[in-house]
Amino acid sequence: MLRSIYLFVLIALLALAGVWLADNPGNVSVRWDAYVIETSMIVLVAITAITALILAILINVYKWLRAGPGRLGGAFASRKRGRGLDAISNGMVAIAAGDAEGARRAAVEAEKHLKGAPMTLLLAAQAAELNQDNRAAKIYYDKMAEKPETELMGLRGLINRAKSDNDLQGAITHAMRADALKPGTEWVLKELLELQLKTRDYVAAKGISSRIARGKAARNPALKHLRAVINYQLALSKLDKENIASALELAEAAHRMDPAFVPAAVLILKLSAADRKRDKLVSAIWASTPHPDVVDAIKNLMPLETEGDWFTRAKRIFNPTAGDHGINNLALAKAALDAREWGEARKYLNTLSKDEPTAVVYRLLADLEEKANADAAASRKWIIKSTEAPQDPTWLCNGCGRQEIRWSAHCPSCDRFDSLNWRNADRGEVEGVLKVEIIEEIPQAS
Ligand SMILES: [Zn+2]
Repeated sequence: MLRSIYLFVLIALLALAGVWLADNPGNVSVRWDAYVIETSMIVLVAITAITALILAILINVYKWLRAGPGRLGGAFASRKRGRGLDAISNGMVAIAAGDAEGARRAAVEAEKHLKGAPMTLLLAAQAAELNQDNRAAKIYYDKMAEKPETELMGLRGLINRAKSDNDLQGAITHAMRADALKPGTEWVLKELLELQLKTRDYVAAKGISSRIARGKAARNPALKHLRAVINYQLALSKLDKENIASALELAEAAHRMDPAFVPAAVLILKLSAADRKRDKLVSAIWASTPHPDVVDAIKNLMPLETEGDWFTRAKRIFNPTAGDHGINNLALAKAALDAREWGEARKYLNTLSKDEPTAVVYRLLADLEEKANADAAASRKWIIKSTEAPQDPTWLCNGCGRQEIRWSAHCPSCDRFDSLNWRNADRGEVEGVLKVEIIEEIPQAS
């Protein structure tokens, strides 16, 4: 409103000035050196107005020209961007199809149009991986790790590269940087845990596993088992330093986390004090962890005991009516044989042979015939039967199938962590899915 009033007043004033000038033409004389220009006032005003108009137009044209290249550049850049995005999309398709050469060409094209863009770097790195050009892939991941928007992605690539190069310390450094960048990221924690377990850094692994075990994840059986194994390994390291109290504490923590974890139960027995409480401890451990290794550990509590005394003690501990009949009867049969209690041994072995006996039962029967009756023919008969019977469970690596007498945290053959499982070799070749990648089974804390 104000603006239109202002315009109206301005036009009115200009019209008035025009009329006044027409009525009073007057003369203007300009003298410059030898030149004299004479004109009327109205012409001078008109010339001034036209000059001002031309100047205004020129200034606007100049401004438009100045902004022009940008506008033109914008259209050009948008076309370039479109081509770059097309190249990235083609590259991703090539990667998914495993077309290494196509991916490489697309990466070059994308880099030409979208120099240094995050997606371009990712495509270039993936194409390099597909072409098995590890050095180039590492360069691209390094570049990604330098940019805030792609740092985490770049670090992930660098971790995987370092792992492929078997540079575990390098991978840990990258993973720790990723953890500092985005604390609590699921894949970072799992990666760190896996690396620390590989490098036997159980102190660090314990810290990370506690961080993973927050909330609902704490009740996850796979995670509880993993933490039991870590505590057990820490107990062993304390034992090396002859710190028995700490070792026992850690073994007990491991046993609480996973009562079925045999090595922890065995270690608790080994470290237990020979006092009045030990009988109770032995029954509790046998109830939670019935296993042949635990039988040996219980027997070893009294190294100077005679076989007869051991058999008497075994009868108190291994009660076939209270728990797993098979394992209790087997422990008693062995103890009776060692104590040369032939009748008792036969009684336990007969019970065992009624219920899908494994090879060990026939081997013990063969032993009995030979020792009690010196009957080689009967003994041989049982030996032959033992070869046809199902195999007994043993510590078997889920990764490479190696058989071991004792459990160890890393398979002596393939170095896989916690891959030794107490199981029957007859259950097929290698059970890759059972517990090979235990860390994969751990859910995210929520
Ligand atoms: Zn193995």
